[in-house]
Amino acid sequence: MFITRRNVLKLSGLTAVIVALLPRVAFAARNALRTVRTGVQPGNKTRLVIETSSRPSYSLSYPSNQLVVTLANTAANAQLSPAMASGTLITAITQIQSGDKLQIVADLAKPIDEIPRDNIMLLNPNGDNEYRLVLDFVAGSGARTATTTATTATAAPAKKSAPSRKYVVVIDAGHGGKDPGCIGKGGTQEKTVVLSVAKKLKNKLDAAGFQTYLTRSNDTYLKLAHRASIGEKKHADLFLSLHANANPRRSMQGFSIYTLSEKASDEEAAKLADAENAADKIDVSGFEQFDKDIRIALSSLQQHAVAAMSVEYANGCASAFKRAKITQQPGPDVRHAPFAVLRSTVPGALIELGHLSNAAEEKLLKSSAHQDKLVAAIVKSVQGYNFDV
Ligand SMILES: [Zn+2]
Repeated sequence: MFITRRNVLKLSGLTAVIVALLPRVAFAARNALRTVRTGVQPGNKTRLVIETSSRPSYSLSYPSNQLVVTLANTAANAQLSPAMASGTLITAITQIQSGDKLQIVADLAKPIDEIPRDNIMLLNPNGDNEYRLVLDFVAGSGARTATTTATTATAAPAKKSAPSRKYVVVIDAGHGGKDPGCIGKGGTQEKTVVLSVAKKLKNKLDAAGFQTYLTRSNDTYLKLAHRASIGEKKHADLFLSLHANANPRRSMQGFSIYTLSEKASDEEAAKLADAENAADKIDVSGFEQFDKDIRIALSSLQQHAVAAMSVEYANGCASAFKRAKITQQPGPDVRHAPFAVLRSTVPGALIELGHLSNAAEEKLLKSSAHQDKLVAAIVKSVQGYNFDV
């Protein structure tokens, strides 16, 4: 069979001009292009999402007024009709199949600079989505500014129908068993409060259509990496670790929210991570291996995507708590520290629900009504989280 070396599919808005079509299985591609979509992100960023059947191996190049994404060992999608939002820098998208390489060429209204690492995400499948390469960019420094106001139209992102798979949330009640966590002056134990909140949260999220799992449903001790590995095994889309805080200053109160980073955002966050990570020192036998495996499995790009999604969730969670008028610990909305329980490929956050060291808050944390209020805020934050990109 004669095989065309070059196969071009030109797609621009509603027009799709097929110049030449490569026979469908001309080579045994490991990967296949599923969809391409565009959108506008805050800060007038253009977002290009390329969805593929397996994890893509890609490179980027920037010929004049174009962005070219080259996917190795990938088959074109002859049926592709890209979802093109208005107001982006992208005017047309073309697929060029060259041997086993697929180039996706985005024609741009204005030139762009090289896309910084921070604006590239590689996401694992979730819901109805397969692997996604997500690129965010703005007009480059060379762009003319006189015409920038012409491109501020808001995007109408293509709304997807309800996913066939429920989003999976793993809820981790901190501590347990021989590890009580912190203990209030009135004798309230962190492990008891967070288990109660975790169970309530599971009920509410299940009722709201999520698939949830608890890392522990009774008073048992689990290593931190084991908790993280439950998120992996359940293919969770979100991992929430629930805790309550203690502070030597008894007047200190309020919730605080943390995401994983190897460097702590401040000294207090570092101390807190040390305290929470110390749960592992209670029992030194067991699951150290999980931690190591997960760390090896994470590429730096994936780590970046997980961190970005975690921060996005955590910011939404802080807003939901504030809207519910739950007292916030003074300081930034979201802080970062090396929490062992968050080390995985699953985006997530560690939520300190309040201070057991504060007498008033200890009372609140024990009360069923306040626990319900906390749960309602967390449910809102999960519902508000953008599981799809
Ligand atoms: Zn804790």
